[in-house]
Amino acid sequence: THQVHIIGGGLAGSEAAWQLAQRGVRVKLSEMRGGGGSNDAHQTDGLAELVCSNSFRSDDDEKNAVGLLHHEMRRLDSIIMRAGEMARVPAGSAMAVDRDLFSAEVQKALEGHPNIEIVREVVEVLPAEGMTIVATGPLTAAALADSIIKVTGEDRLAFFDAIAPIVYRDSIDMDKAWIQSRWNKTTSASNEGGDYINCPMTKEEYLAFHQGLMDAEKGEFKEWEANTPYFDGCMPIEVMAERGWETLRYGPMKGVGLDDPRTACEEFPDGRWPYAVVQLRQDNKLGTLWNMVGFQTKMKYGAQVELFRTIPGLENAEFARLGGMHRNTFLNSPELLDRQLRLKQAPHIRFAGQVTGCEGYVESSAVGLMAGMMAAAELAGEAWSPPPRTSAMGALLSHITGDAEAASFQPMNVNFGLFPPLHEVKKKERKEAYTNRAKADFGTWLDGLQAVPA
Ligand code: FAD
Repeated sequence: THQVHIIGGGLAGSEAAWQLAQRGVRVKLSEMRGGGGSNDAHQTDGLAELVCSNSFRSDDDEKNAVGLLHHEMRRLDSIIMRAGEMARVPAGSAMAVDRDLFSAEVQKALEGHPNIEIVREVVEVLPAEGMTIVATGPLTAAALADSIIKVTGEDRLAFFDAIAPIVYRDSIDMDKAWIQSRWNKTTSASNEGGDYINCPMTKEEYLAFHQGLMDAEKGEFKEWEANTPYFDGCMPIEVMAERGWETLRYGPMKGVGLDDPRTACEEFPDGRWPYAVVQLRQDNKLGTLWNMVGFQTKMKYGAQVELFRTIPGLENAEFARLGGMHRNTFLNSPELLDRQLRLKQAPHIRFAGQVTGCEGYVESSAVGLMAGMMAAAELAGEAWSPPPRTSAMGALLSHITGDAEAASFQPMNVNFGLFPPLHEVKKKERKEAYTNRAKADFGTWLDGLQAVPA
């Protein structure tokens, strides 16, 4: 009999199974592919199948957040990193793999493990008892998604991400932009004078921007995405633009109630309302990341960067992530999960992988790794201290389990904006400073762990 039931043999579920099994815990791993289940992205029955690109992105652990995550996962004997190394193909400073070999290596390691039983079956309801890890990914099968909703509530599980671009705060030109809430109605005490950063546009700038939206190259919805019914509430900015040249100016880009201090005069001592405005709202508690309000989009990445840098104040904007819209099942984790990824209403159930609201192969695997460690510690009756907040794993975990704003929670890749800021370090040296601090703190944490993996 098993001690932990893992649902989903993708990247996160496979990693969690490995971490548990290596710590002597008996695991049952349920995977629907090969057991009567399928979805539109996976093509094989192999565990840890990569559904799209074959890249784990940058392997640079000195200046890159995802490279740093690779480093930390290797130190914790990640099976995803181990198999990735065995299946590695040349890709410069990136880490890319032969996807079939990679999946085969993961599967071989898990099938051959005495503590792991792999069962090919579709799980349709959340288990009522027994320690469980749900790692069913962005395309969680419908019956299980319904079962999750029964516990969490209808509006706590999203089926689409509608991501507006997220900008690093320190790349916004505050000589042009200013902080203010519309009609000066602030909701939080943390930001001086308001909750929004406002980038003003003249009529000429607005018209050019509107034309830019119309002309920009867009990505297509896949047929199965377009047919997903949960889509109405989050219209792409370019679709709104197509409805008429003034639609945006009366929608997310309206300037009323915002006083541009640069236009202050005798008649308008606080400044005048701009013709149109782009607003950014704080996206994390650290205040390092700000999202462009209402700017979810299907524009191609290159087109987004080009067009959004024409916005006054965003000429040098750096993006923690660009906008996008995809089919994606994920929880409102900051609200629903505790710091150990357990469902607050049903703490025998833990979530891992992309369904927690991280994004990407490596991030999903890292969250699976932590879920496995947490479950092992819980079974052993040990207190589990999370990786330090300054490490990539710690920063990602903190974001998911409470630092992100629950109201605007959208899936997130690992990036330095999630790390406690190092304002005192010169910008040019900051990335290296983040990774140096992370490695030192992560090392101290590892040394302090009771059960360091062999
Ligand atoms: P998955 O790897 O999807 O694993 C979930 C597993 O659970 C699957 O094997 C599934 O069959 C199984 N499952 C689901 N429901 C049930 C059930 N009820 N019972 C039993 N088993 C079940 N990320 C990148 O980094 N790069 C990319 O290029 C990229 N492209 C993507 C393209 C698409 C179309 C999609 C949907 C996602 C893409 N992603 C990409 C994101 C990527 O899928 C995830 O980051 C990653 O696979 C998530 O890992 P996971 O383990 O959480 O989920």
